[in-house]
Amino acid sequence: TDRHATSVDPATGALLERYPLHDDAAVDAALGRARAAQLRWWDAGFEHRAEVLRAIARELRAEQEPLAQLICAEMGKTLREARAEVEKSAWVCEYYADNGADQLAREPIATEWSETYVQFPPLGVVLAVMPWNYPVWQVMRAAAPALMAGNTFVLKHASNVTGCALALGELIARVEASLMEVVVIGGRDVARVIADDRIAAVTLTGSEGAGVAVATACAQALKPSVLELGGSDPFVVLHDADIDAAADMGVRARFSNTGQSCVAAKRFIVVEQVADAFEEAFAARAAALVMGDPREEVDLGPMARVDLRDELADQVARGVAAGGRVLAGGEVPDGPGAYYAPTVVGGVAPDSPLAREETFGPAAAVLRVPDEEAAIALANASPYGLSSSVWSRDVERVKTLARRVEAGAVFVNTMTASDPRVPFGGVKRSGWGRELGAFGIREFVNVQAITVA
Ligand code: NDP
Repeated sequence: TDRHATSVDPATGALLERYPLHDDAAVDAALGRARAAQLRWWDAGFEHRAEVLRAIARELRAEQEPLAQLICAEMGKTLREARAEVEKSAWVCEYYADNGADQLAREPIATEWSETYVQFPPLGVVLAVMPWNYPVWQVMRAAAPALMAGNTFVLKHASNVTGCALALGELIARVEASLMEVVVIGGRDVARVIADDRIAAVTLTGSEGAGVAVATACAQALKPSVLELGGSDPFVVLHDADIDAAADMGVRARFSNTGQSCVAAKRFIVVEQVADAFEEAFAARAAALVMGDPREEVDLGPMARVDLRDELADQVARGVAAGGRVLAGGEVPDGPGAYYAPTVVGGVAPDSPLAREETFGPAAAVLRVPDEEAAIALANASPYGLSSSVWSRDVERVKTLARRVEAGAVFVNTMTASDPRVPFGGVKRSGWGRELGAFGIREFVNVQAITVA
């Protein structure tokens, strides 16, 4: 087998780099450094850790352009999106620098003892298994709270973005050594690292398959995990929605990052009364998107890999065979690169592959329902439950409906977007645990109760 991680430019198919995988001794040394660093890092206190996170944010901003170029080269998102990703990654560092100490402050409890309180020491070394779709943001949104809490971090990044992983590791090491050790290993080597005594907990963002493998390894090792897996988020348009606004935002919600986001809107569930109007407005906007070289001023670049593009094309073909009608796109363009035209499929049936499976790329499915009740039932008729978006001019009614949506978040009259201040995560097969906000920083701590007689 090939003991390399390979980076390919998905815009051209050109080989960028082959990185030799780390052998057992190199992985062992990395875990040893992360464990040794954790003890002094925890001892150094919140103030020091906040300063380091602020310094990491400054480094990210200073390196914004080269990092954005690398993200763009390795996974094909537009330079504009890559720059925004680096900026948001700096923000999450600053957010936890500003708020982490308060979020983990001691909590007194009234008892008959002279003193009872809860405190939140770190767990130790957190292993992060991360995906390629936001190569810098996914890592920093997991790392910033884990580090602020006093853990150190071992990163196993997706094999196709190893350049980003190493660049990020070097950037953080310039600020302080061994806070984030990067291991270049394949997915099948992860279980062994999870079993290592020096790893206390695991965070994974990725597919359901990787989630099952990591959760199984964590169960065997009895270690806690946070899992951010796939989604098939509903974008529900009710009869009294602002159709133009919903179509505008719907296009961003589905096609940003070339559709490769766990919280992208994937199933557009539209009440019959407004379905023709929405479909027309939405498909027209999708067809007007400019796809091309991600280094140019375009709306979307290629997908991250040709195999992922081919899988999406196959899903669309099966969706059409199951009765769907192509309203925009639907083709694999000629020429090199992992391109797929922004696609809208209407008339999608609830049991179509486009409704049942996660579509991780620029293809939207539009499903029609008779009324609001049917819309909520169909929104919930998915194995996933990550986020959702609901459109109506009657905000109070939607807030009441929101309780019945089986998802980690409901966005009313806007699209789903992650935010350092707001908890993020799913239910059902979208995973467990939360990232970001005050909930995120409490995932990788010990809830330690102190009682003094
Ligand atoms: P994967 O889930 O395979 O990759 C995510 C991470 O998990 C990578 O670091 C990968 O390593 C690792 N991994 C893969 N298999 C295992 C395993 N058995 N044990 C431990 N770690 C593992 O995503 P793909 O790149 O294959 O993308 C396929 C699909 O995953 C997408 O089409 C989409 O549905 C979903 N996905 C969801 C994301 C999200 O944000 N929720 C992000 C990315 C993908 P390696 O690269 O070395 O295999």
